[in-house]
Amino acid sequence: MHPRDLSDHVAYEAGRGIEEVARELGLDPDDLVKLSSNENALGPAPKAVEAIEAYAPSVHTYPKSSAADLRERLADRHGVTPAQVWLANGGDGALDYLSRALLEPGDSVLVPDPGFAYYAMSARYHHGSVNEYPIRRADDFEQSAETVLDHYDGERIVYLTSPHNPTGSEIDRADVETIAEGTAEETLSLVDEAYVEFSESPSMTDLLADREDVAVLRTFSKAYGLAGLRLGYAVVPEAWADAYARINTPFAASEVACRAGLAALEDEEFLEQTLETAAWAKEYIRDTIACPTWASSGNFVLCDVGDGTAVAEAAQREGIIVRDTTSFGLPGCVRITCGTRQGTKRAVAVLNDLL
Ligand code: PMP
Repeated sequence: MHPRDLSDHVAYEAGRGIEEVARELGLDPDDLVKLSSNENALGPAPKAVEAIEAYAPSVHTYPKSSAADLRERLADRHGVTPAQVWLANGGDGALDYLSRALLEPGDSVLVPDPGFAYYAMSARYHHGSVNEYPIRRADDFEQSAETVLDHYDGERIVYLTSPHNPTGSEIDRADVETIAEGTAEETLSLVDEAYVEFSESPSMTDLLADREDVAVLRTFSKAYGLAGLRLGYAVVPEAWADAYARINTPFAASEVACRAGLAALEDEEFLEQTLETAAWAKEYIRDTIACPTWASSGNFVLCDVGDGTAVAEAAQREGIIVRDTTSFGLPGCVRITCGTRQGTKRAVAVLNDLL
């Protein structure tokens, strides 16, 4: 007895946990600076922590109505109906729901190269095949409708990432519209806005007011500091909003996650501090690191260190964990998440000794 043929599938390579690295190096986790997973350097939103603690004695019961409350709150925020908000176990879970709702055997999807690995993985899990469009280093990772449409061949989902991980580039709203116009009616253009809070550009959820072929992905993992709770969502076109009830896993987001999410949305002070810290760190890294970098609209900076694998490994031995971007299809670079003032300064000092 065996699983089905999974030879096309690869395991998701998450950034390594701080405890795991500390154990390996024989160091105290408090002595490590982890800037490899684009987590929030300030921790979780304090109001979310209060909500989690308050709800803890009730976790033996099945979820109540917080998912409905959160969907309503998010719908208000994005100018859509609650049915158009597909809550999930992180943005990753929302990607799976989109794959489940859209893909049939034989369908294909179009993903960016370099890009976030889970787009392709989710499509393959759902019997889709994967084609790529380039985001070229020679163009400073600029994204354009022209390149996407040049590589488009009737795929069912076109994944766009803005801000883009791991490069930090953005795609213009006009380009998203051009892509949606230039693709078949049955093609969804999905704008992944996991990092949009850190960008000066507004969210593109308002495109859904006029379009039936665009969806937007959002997460509480980054700006709201709730990566461990796993809470994300897709905002989908009105016409197929009711598919959610037919495809979602029961209790798609936990009661704790939904309560924390609702509280985090109220924590404006925390969001402000988060954005301020990230803006400071981006400027500090770009001004101080002894190698070329690219402008970033996310909470991270891509740095051209020459040999990303060697530099990330050497930095780790000094207690600084950054992300080698080879696994994104981008060798030669590391991605540094914006840390606290202290952590960022220490990380850059160690990296500069290695460069
Ligand atoms: N999209 C992008 C571009 C990401 O970098 C991430 C996080 N690694 C996600 C989506 C998913 O994040 P999460 O599942 O934590 O919401």
